[in-house]
Amino acid sequence: ELRVWMLHNNSGKECCWVHVLNCCKDKQENQPFPTIKVPAVVPLVCWSHERSYSFRLGNFAVDLQAAGSDGIRLTMESALTARDRVGVQDFVLLENFTSEAAFIENLRKRFKENLIYTYIGSVLVSVNPYKDLEIYSKQHMERYRGVSFYEVSPHLYAIADNSYRSLRIERKDQCILISGESGAGKTEATKKILQYYAVTCPASDQVETVKDRLLQSNPVLEAFGNAKTLRNDNSSRFGKYMDVQFDYKGAPVGGHILNYLLEKSRVVHQNHGERNFHIFYQLLEGGEDDLLRRLGLEKNPQQYHYLVKGQCARVSSISDKNDWKVVRRALSVINFNDNEVEDLLSIVASVLHLGNVQFAADEQGNAQVTTENQIKYLARLLGVEGSVLREALIHKTIIAKGEELVSPLNLEQAAYARDALAKAVYGRTFSWLVNKINKSLAYKEAECPGWRSATVLGLLDIYGFEVFQHNSFEQFCINYCNEKLQQLFIELTLKSEQEEYESEGIADEECLRPGDATDMTFLEKLEETVKNHPHFLTHKLADQKTRKSLGREEFRLLHYAGEVTYSVTGFLDKNNDLLFRNLKETMCNSENTIINHCFERTELTDKKRPETVKVRPSAFNRKFLQQYPYGLHMRCACLSSCRFDEVLIRHQVKYLGLMENLRVRRAGFAYRRKYEIFLQRTKIFIRFPKTLFATEDALEIRKQSLAITIQSWWRGTQGRRKASKKKWAVETIRRFIK
Ligand code: ATP
Ligand code: MG
Repeated sequence: ELRVWMLHNNSGKECCWVHVLNCCKDKQENQPFPTIKVPAVVPLVCWSHERSYSFRLGNFAVDLQAAGSDGIRLTMESALTARDRVGVQDFVLLENFTSEAAFIENLRKRFKENLIYTYIGSVLVSVNPYKDLEIYSKQHMERYRGVSFYEVSPHLYAIADNSYRSLRIERKDQCILISGESGAGKTEATKKILQYYAVTCPASDQVETVKDRLLQSNPVLEAFGNAKTLRNDNSSRFGKYMDVQFDYKGAPVGGHILNYLLEKSRVVHQNHGERNFHIFYQLLEGGEDDLLRRLGLEKNPQQYHYLVKGQCARVSSISDKNDWKVVRRALSVINFNDNEVEDLLSIVASVLHLGNVQFAADEQGNAQVTTENQIKYLARLLGVEGSVLREALIHKTIIAKGEELVSPLNLEQAAYARDALAKAVYGRTFSWLVNKINKSLAYKEAECPGWRSATVLGLLDIYGFEVFQHNSFEQFCINYCNEKLQQLFIELTLKSEQEEYESEGIADEECLRPGDATDMTFLEKLEETVKNHPHFLTHKLADQKTRKSLGREEFRLLHYAGEVTYSVTGFLDKNNDLLFRNLKETMCNSENTIINHCFERTELTDKKRPETVKVRPSAFNRKFLQQYPYGLHMRCACLSSCRFDEVLIRHQVKYLGLMENLRVRRAGFAYRRKYEIFLQRTKIFIRFPKTLFATEDALEIRKQSLAITIQSWWRGTQGRRKASKKKWAVETIRRFIK
């Protein structure tokens, strides 16, 4: 029987020793353990959290989690049994690390025990439990605060705390990247990380305000930018990159949000089983009678064309009424005064009214507005002339040779113009909202002196990869963004060489072709340009067998996350997102301060092409690369699973590249730190004068254990080390100790 004795080192923090005390079989109860000669101290990489320890002993990988009752003396047998039950906390400890089956089995074991977090080195893998596990309390936060990554069981808080400490100790900007498919738990993870900082970072009155605003920006952005989809009842329909600025004391003093590509088309159309953005339902469900009267709205969402397409106005998991209260409160925390709230809600209401504007054709086939009531409300809510708006909705103006030509629209064109206006109004208001939040988050020098030495921690939460039965431009943008993110991650963490994608910009180029460009010419152009790419297929390019599964208007891409078939129908329109000039002009004259701000007059005079949706998420790649050349090492990969569906999990493990990640971690060092920083952190142990130690022996033991610890630390948990690196590490340590 092998007995192990777990001891904390003096600080109780940085690491633990295991003393192997006894290998003898027939020890009597209550007799002291005879001490064995070798080895006195077994080095280990271990985690201790309450009574949970993981380490490697000889050929055994031991996870003592939940084993034994006193947490101090444990038999190897019980330890191994415990490991069998709960799996390993870090995949690098998996014996059979190349086996996907072993990987998934480990995830399954842990998931069964409600252990949703597992590491691959410094990457955290999380499986969505879809239930409240009560692991996010203040006590949990305290447990992770200031504690070394490897000492505590895997948790989001460990990632949050580690980034925070790197930021403070190394004074380097950090970034936490969260990836995973739609519904995997990315947004929840972001919120939990923010809550962690709000609770654990130093406080002061000013700082409390910033913390509050950081937290309260979420419900507002989610109300306007999230919606129920088939995959997630609270799906983010925009990408968000949030910077939190910390001052020299480590207190959050400001923040900044960058938003990417809101899925504006949702404003005017939703697929069956999906909803429009939450705010519409919240306003109707929660808005006070008086407010709704002012906005000319009725409570019933069925009254509004823009809310009925998905046929699911009510969702059991969502309480629009409660959410409305949260949003209203949040708006005041982030500095909205009553007028601004009224203007904002007027815009929300005006989008609903716009959706109800109907047209009929006159004898010439020209569209005429038939819903005068809506125009009346719109005029009031948007602060524009009713007659001007009415005319703008059914005509278009073109400037040719300096002359303004006005031509009537037919029914189809008028409906297009109306929807374009709704999308533009909503989309621009969303950007305005983000700006407004940014102003309230911006550091105010008088309030937080000393911020100039501030460091920044970034949190990236984008919309997750999604595949539906019918995939269009929106999915193309979202999946492209995810693909880029994945590539960025590979570049930055695994350092493998990846080629730049050649396809970037193709869509834009085709949209710029005047007049004759259609969705089909776009497809042809695409075929021409990327026909030889093995990951691209169309009806024309496919072989006999595959051809049947592809429509003439479709193309298929093999993404990192699997195959997706896109329909090009509507691609160009959606990308161009054209808003006729006269509608723009009408909005420029709006008395609604937000609208007025969103539609600037210069747009009318500028020769430059109007803003289009650009599929260029690589712009944010570049920003990252410049901003976080080294800091982007924290990453959280979220997996989605209602129950533990193995097929689903396997697919995600594959596309998130977790097996490759594990292989790389195992081949090199599982945990990395720059040499200078390592030296900075550890030299104090070596330079201690002898007198601090009671005896020579104690010093000797200290030196030895330090040497072994450093050695094992450099090696990583059990990474296959390269001989030269090992030699170098050992020599460095020797020099150190001398
Ligand atoms: P999308 O890409 O569509 O925005 P997402 O990855 O952001 O998806 P979330 O909205 O964060 O997904 O999570 C979806 C749902 O899963 C949440 O509304 C919540 O019900 C549940 N969930 C996520 N994380 C957790 C967690 N840690 N504990 C319990 N439930 C969770
Ligand atoms: Mg989300």
